[in-house]
Amino acid sequence: MTIAKETASILEKLGVAKDALSGGDLIVRSPVTGEQIAALKSISAADAGKAIDAAHKAFQAWRLVPGPKRGELVRLLGEELRAHKAELGRLVSIEVGKIPSEGLGEVQEMIDICDFAVGLSRQLYGLTIATERPGHRMMETWHPLGVVGVISAFNFPVAVWSWNAALALVCGDAVVWKPSEKTPLTALACEAIFKRAAKRFGADAPEGLLQVLIGDRAAGEVLVDHPKVPLVSATGSTRMGREVGPRLAKRFARAVLELGGNNAGIVCPTADLDMALRAIAFGAMGTAGQRCTTLRRLFVHESVYDALLPRLKKAYQSVSVGNPLETSALVGPLIDKAAFDNMQKALKEAQAHGGKVTGGARFENGHAEAYYVHPALVEMPSQVSPVTEETFAPILYVMKYSDFDEALDLHNAVGAGLSSSIFTRDLQESERFLGVDGSDCGIANVNIGTSGAEIGGAFGGEKETGGGRESGSDAWKAYMRRATNTVNFSKALPLAQGVSFDI
Ligand code: NAD
Repeated sequence: MTIAKETASILEKLGVAKDALSGGDLIVRSPVTGEQIAALKSISAADAGKAIDAAHKAFQAWRLVPGPKRGELVRLLGEELRAHKAELGRLVSIEVGKIPSEGLGEVQEMIDICDFAVGLSRQLYGLTIATERPGHRMMETWHPLGVVGVISAFNFPVAVWSWNAALALVCGDAVVWKPSEKTPLTALACEAIFKRAAKRFGADAPEGLLQVLIGDRAAGEVLVDHPKVPLVSATGSTRMGREVGPRLAKRFARAVLELGGNNAGIVCPTADLDMALRAIAFGAMGTAGQRCTTLRRLFVHESVYDALLPRLKKAYQSVSVGNPLETSALVGPLIDKAAFDNMQKALKEAQAHGGKVTGGARFENGHAEAYYVHPALVEMPSQVSPVTEETFAPILYVMKYSDFDEALDLHNAVGAGLSSSIFTRDLQESERFLGVDGSDCGIANVNIGTSGAEIGGAFGGEKETGGGRESGSDAWKAYMRRATNTVNFSKALPLAQGVSFDI
């Protein structure tokens, strides 16, 4: 069966109409072979506006459904995802080129956030606060916010939607999703899966609660500019965030920005090198270097550099690259030619700055339009461009350090601030790294790599990563509005701060 046929058959099984997959302007290709697998119709700006209006109408009904009941819809969504994990995981592998365990892992992450959100649906609580006025009670109440816009990137085509949607739905919001134009089919699959859950939930799930806008950035711009969208959670490049952020600020809408990363690790003298090696290999080469949390920079102490480097090089030279649908390779394809060209450009620049490259060449698999590469390890004399920028491909720049403070400074001396890790058995070093003057990232790990975050913790980063937090901890608060309520149950009207105003 061709990939196109398999794709159509999975989508049909999930409930996506066959005629939606052809005849449109948006050509969808599988990076596995480069072949076209669908041609979808992009939504017009007018229809995107109508979809947002419909979602707003749905929100007005959904907000009246009690939180724990809203949680039941998300519980059903989790059940449907469990039932269709194999198909959706396979579709992620087809559309993004992830190896099977990562395709399935992405769906598992969706299931995990649904479980998290179901519990959360009974814990959307505020504080009761001491008041200075006798006979008064002061408290805060959290209310549903409205239509939540979700813009997602190609590399986590379904998990990022679920991080937002599961929380938004239990918080009483409707969701309008603009998936990446490179991965719209997995979005159609999620929409179909959501519809199954909504049908089982019954009439209390209003029509239009989830809308999917198929299209490129123009569709995203409608969402960003629409006055009925009080929050846009946008995941993608820092370039995208620079465009979206100010536009949202202009109309005082909230932004959850989840942008690029340039993540680093520090390998200290006491590090367990076996453990570090495995963590570095997965962090830097996994998902073909196309995770926002991919390890891109490594600072290795001079005392362990010569012990670690040869082993790392060996791992780079022996890692299997290949078709993720047909082989057990650990590294699948890059998303497209542009990604390949960017990688080659960065490697050339690194070499011009004295970088010594291992790997990096194209891996031919017989498909001219598919872009597989051998991951690249680059020994750099210092941290100069292109090391300071995110190149969304499997390149790991390795640098030697002698002084811990200097390594920390270099670690923090880039624009992005997403994820970081340290490999050490020295308590002072690990605590420094996690402390106030340590890593400046939103995620800081000890003795595990930079990637592979789990549901439960807040996910996101600082600086040019955008500052947004999603998924765990109290990230739900972004999806609700807070009202402070003061109730006077006395017979007097004392004013705060001792102000008197007797009429
Ligand atoms: P991208 O920025 O090209 O596109 C992301 C999404 O934004 C797409 O849906 C695109 O259509 C939309 N978009 C682009 N410009 C827009 C605009 N002006 N207005 C509205 N929408 C717009 O990113 P990509 O290539 O799909 O993904 C890779 C990037 O995403 C990397 O930089 C990676 O680090 C980042 N990423 C970040 C996280 C995170 O959580 N921090 C997660 C995944 C990916």
